[in-house]
Amino acid sequence: MARETKIPLADILPVTAATNEAGHLTLGGCDAVELAREFGTPLYVFDEETLRGRCREFQTEFRSRYPDTVVAYAAKVYLGRALAAILVQEEMALDVVSGGELAIAASVSFPPERIYFHGNNKSALDLREALDYGVGRIVIDNFHEMQLLNGLALGAGKRQPVLIRLSPDVDPHTHVHTTTGILDSKFGIPLATGQGEAAVRQVLELPGLELVGLHVHLGSPIFDLEPFREAVDVVLAFAVKMVETHGLRLEEFSPGGGFAVQYVEGKAPPSVAEYAETITTAVTEGCQEHGLAMPRLIVEPGRAIVARAAMALYTVGSSKDVPGVRRFVSVDGGMADNIRPPLYDSRYEALVANKALETRRETVTIAGRYCESGDILLRDAELAPLEAGDILAMATAGAYALPMASNYNASLRPAVVLVKDGEAKLIRRRETYEDLMRADLWPLE
Ligand SMILES: *Cc1c(COP(=O)(O)O)cnc(C)c1O
Repeated sequence: MARETKIPLADILPVTAATNEAGHLTLGGCDAVELAREFGTPLYVFDEETLRGRCREFQTEFRSRYPDTVVAYAAKVYLGRALAAILVQEEMALDVVSGGELAIAASVSFPPERIYFHGNNKSALDLREALDYGVGRIVIDNFHEMQLLNGLALGAGKRQPVLIRLSPDVDPHTHVHTTTGILDSKFGIPLATGQGEAAVRQVLELPGLELVGLHVHLGSPIFDLEPFREAVDVVLAFAVKMVETHGLRLEEFSPGGGFAVQYVEGKAPPSVAEYAETITTAVTEGCQEHGLAMPRLIVEPGRAIVARAAMALYTVGSSKDVPGVRRFVSVDGGMADNIRPPLYDSRYEALVANKALETRRETVTIAGRYCESGDILLRDAELAPLEAGDILAMATAGAYALPMASNYNASLRPAVVLVKDGEAKLIRRRETYEDLMRADLWPLE
C-alpha cells in the first residue's frame, strides 16, 4: 500500500486512495482495476476506513464540545446490511424513513432505542412496525400523524416518545429540490403560522404520545454555517415560550443534518469541527440566554458519513466526436445507478483508475448508457485520454446514488464491495435477470 505518491484529488477520494507500481488507483489496499475485473462494472467500492473515520469524527467533534450528543446516520443516503452492522459497532444512532429501512436495520439487530423514525407521510403500517420494534423516537411531521400514532400507540398499550418536526422558515441556500426548512415545504409543521404552537399543545394532550423534544432539518448540502445558527436560535426561542405556556420539557433537540461534503475541487465545505462549533455554541448560548436546561443534541449526518467513502467504477466503451462541439465518451452505467447529475445538476470528480498518474488531459463529456439524452454523468471533465476498456472511477459516490438506483432499461443494479487492508468483500451481488422478473408474474393463473 504505497502512499508515497501524492494522488490527485486527495481531499475528495476515500482516505486510503493511493496508487501502486502499475500506476493504478488503489482503494483500501485493493487495485481498483483488479476489483473491476473480478466483480464487473458498474461497481461501487466502499472504503471501510473512511466510513468508520467519519462516524468517529462526528462523534468526537460534537461530544468534545457537547457531551450529550447523539450522532444519527440518515439511512436514506445508503443503507445495506453490512453498513448497518458497521454503524452498530460504531455506536451510531440511525434515522429511518420507511418500514423498509427499519427492516434492514432490524435484520442486523440495530438497537431499537437508537432509531429515529422520520417521514412526512408515514403509513399506519410503518407506524405499527415502528411501535412493534420499539423504536426510540418517532418524529411527528404533521397533525394527521399525531392522531394516527396516538391511536396505534394506545392500541398497543404504549406511550411512544416523540419529537415534533418544525419548519423554521430558514433558507439554507441549497438546490430547490433539497431545501426542506422553508415555509413553502412539504416537511414539518410551520412555526411562522402558529401551527407549531398548536402542534405542541395537541401532542401534550395525547395520552399515547410523550413529547420529549423538537426537531428541524433545513435541507442539504448546506455550505454555510449561518443557517444552522439561525435555526437553533429560532427553535430555542420557540421552545422557551412552549415551556412557559404549555409546560413543554425540551429534553432533546435536533438541528438535523445536511452537512456538506466536497464533491469538486475548489468548493470546500466547512469542516465537521466548524459545524460542531457553530451548532454546539448556538445551543449552549441559547440555553443560557433563555434559562433552559441543556437538551440532548441529536445530529443527523447522512452524506457527510458515506459520500466520500465510495467510488463508482465504470468501464469505458464507445465514444463520439462532434467536431467543434464536444467528445462524448460512454460508460457502462449512468442514471440507473446514479441519477444525481440529471436530477440535481450534481457535479463530480473522476479519474481513470488504470491511468491514475497520467498527467496529460483531454476534455470529454462522460455519458451513461441509458436511453435518455439527460443521462450524462460528467460534463466537460478533464481526464487522462480515454480508450475503450479503461476504468473510470467517480469519486464521492457513496451518497444518494445506490438508494435512488433503478432498473431503467431493465438494467441490473450494480454490485457493491467493501474494501479494507487489501481485502474486498462483496456486500451486495450484482442483480440478475431473475431478480428483474422475480416480482413480475407470468404466466397468469
Ligand atoms: C436526509 C435527512 C438527513 C441527512 O441529510 P444529509 O444531507 O445527507 O446529511 C438528516 N435528517 C433528516 C430528517 C433527513 O431527512
